[in-house]
Amino acid sequence: MVKKACKTCGALVMKDICPTCHDSKLTENWKGRVIVIEPENSDIAKKMGIKKKGEYAIRK
Ligand SMILES: [Zn+2]
Repeated sequence: MVKKACKTCGALVMKDICPTCHDSKLTENWKGRVIVIEPENSDIAKKMGIKKKGEYAIRK
């Protein structure tokens, strides 16, 4: 199964609902992947507004 990106927060998910923001607006047309391990110490996470660790799409 292809991972989908949440349109709201960008999280990559294998389900039909985003576990981070509980949104069901997902897209398969995402590009670029960033893995956030420590959101509080990551400049990318700050720029993207990511507060939880996980896998995110850069473009969604
Ligand atoms: Zn989300």
